Amino acid sequence: MTKHLLNPIRRFTAFTVLVLSLSLRTDEVYAADNNVADVLIVGAGLSGLSSAYYLKKLNKTAVILEMSPHIGGRIRTASYKDNAQAEVGLEEFWESNPVLQIMRELNIPLETSYTSFSSFYYQNTLYPFTHNNNSDFLKSVIDANEYQAYQKWDQQMVDLYKQLQIRPVAVNLMALKDISFADWIRQNSGLSTKTQEFVRIETEPEYATSWQKISALDGIAEWHFFSGAGQSPYHVVGGNQYAAQKIAKFIGTDNIRLNQLVTHIKSTNTGVEVTATDSGTFKQQVYRAKYVISTIPLFRLDDIQFSPPLSSDRKEAIQTQSGGSYFTAHVLVDSKARHFWMHKNESILPILTDGPLGVIYEGKAKPGKDALLNLLISGTYADRFNSRSNGLEDDQKTLLEAFDKQWPGFSMSVKQMTFYRYHPRAIASWPVGRSRFDSLSDSLRVPQGRVYFAGDFTEDTHSNGASQSAIRVAKDLGLLLK
Ligand SMILES: Cc1cc2nc3c(=O)[nH]c(=O)nc-3n(C[C@H](O)[C@H](O)[C@H](O)COP(=O)(O)OP(=O)(O)OC[C@H]3O[C@@H](n4cnc5c(N)ncnc54)[C@H](O)[C@@H]3O)c2cc1C
Repeated sequence: MTKHLLNPIRRFTAFTVLVLSLSLRTDEVYAADNNVADVLIVGAGLSGLSSAYYLKKLNKTAVILEMSPHIGGRIRTASYKDNAQAEVGLEEFWESNPVLQIMRELNIPLETSYTSFSSFYYQNTLYPFTHNNNSDFLKSVIDANEYQAYQKWDQQMVDLYKQLQIRPVAVNLMALKDISFADWIRQNSGLSTKTQEFVRIETEPEYATSWQKISALDGIAEWHFFSGAGQSPYHVVGGNQYAAQKIAKFIGTDNIRLNQLVTHIKSTNTGVEVTATDSGTFKQQVYRAKYVISTIPLFRLDDIQFSPPLSSDRKEAIQTQSGGSYFTAHVLVDSKARHFWMHKNESILPILTDGPLGVIYEGKAKPGKDALLNLLISGTYADRFNSRSNGLEDDQKTLLEAFDKQWPGFSMSVKQMTFYRYHPRAIASWPVGRSRFDSLSDSLRVPQGRVYFAGDFTEDTHSNGASQSAIRVAKDLGLLLK
């Protein structure tokens, strides 16, 4: 029926219905129980929780939609018998991570007991970190001439990192995205082979891939955690999951909706409409707000239908990004095995093994009870363990053999191993030819209409990126929502 055929009463009715539906919509946006927020946040990982924290401090309301039955994302802490605990995901927070400020504000207890450099194995020799600082440790590894060259190179790295903070990044510096970190160091650093290997072994577990696969530009950014005295890594007393729970409590647990798999994000001139499916009931629910922040790893954006669709530069930036791999193994061992990692009555963990065992961290266990080791395995070994090409028994055999090669007889003390797999892209990384500092990456950090993008994948390889992106979006939205 065409419009002009409507009689006056029907025309009135049609108009009234339109007005009613408009006003209902307006009410729905800000009043109905599932539509109460200024901002919807997709994902309850560190980035989503931090974004909600900052928004709450700005007196803005935020509701988080999380697809899993738990908060924390890649922050998880596993508990074992006798209250032993180890991190499944994120192990430690660098000193410069803004989330430490949130933790201090919430009285979350933190501890730090070592510096940025760790004990390591190189060509079957152990270099134990029993020193008071990074430079004393390094002087025990390399000779005086090598150390002098190292100091000169490290100062150059400090200067380059400072220049990297100036935007836009200078053309000559940006050119370093086209050479691998490995080749650049080999060709330009003036470091001895042994010192180069030291740099590789200390940094590769951070970006969780080979230093051949990241650009020199990103390598400069990674190195700044180690430069000079190096940054201290912090642990949450009671486990990282405890920290996530404390932040969630501050936000208000009612504002976090679990089991909500977000499938559609529609952005209009006036607001956003986010559709989620409850993973228990498979019921769809529509949430509305003024803005939405997506904090999920960027490669997962493919799971969401965007209207309007994601811009082409954003899609290209995501498609040409790469990732570092992680695999975690928790190893419960007899308490008598502790001597394997003690040196002059002091623990020399963490140890970088440069092999299948990855980084060996010490989990929390009571004295006299079984000890718990946490293997953070990265790169090609993680790819292999994650691929499931071998059975669990084979993975276990590989790890036990590696333990015995390193610490003869150690496998006799192992009581249990528990494995945690990750998506092949456990953390963000950028291949040679791309960098987190190029203009394509800039497109990840600008909003698309009312949709904002946060999460570590928008910024860098660590949880620092998750935290910094939360500050970015909360600041932008805080201004808009004034
Ligand atoms: C094994 C491992 C060790 C690490 N160690 C360190 C370390 O020592 N130091 C460090 O700084 N960093 C470390 N990292 C990196 C760090 O864990 C991450 O940078 C950080 O936790 C990322 O937080 P995020 O909030 O950006 O993402 P996530 O933690 O991945 O959070 C995203 C959330 O979104 C949810 N989600 C995804 N899709 C949807 C959807 N469609 N709908 C609803 N919800 C969705 C996910 O379930 C998840 O909870 C490590 C990572 C791993 C895997």
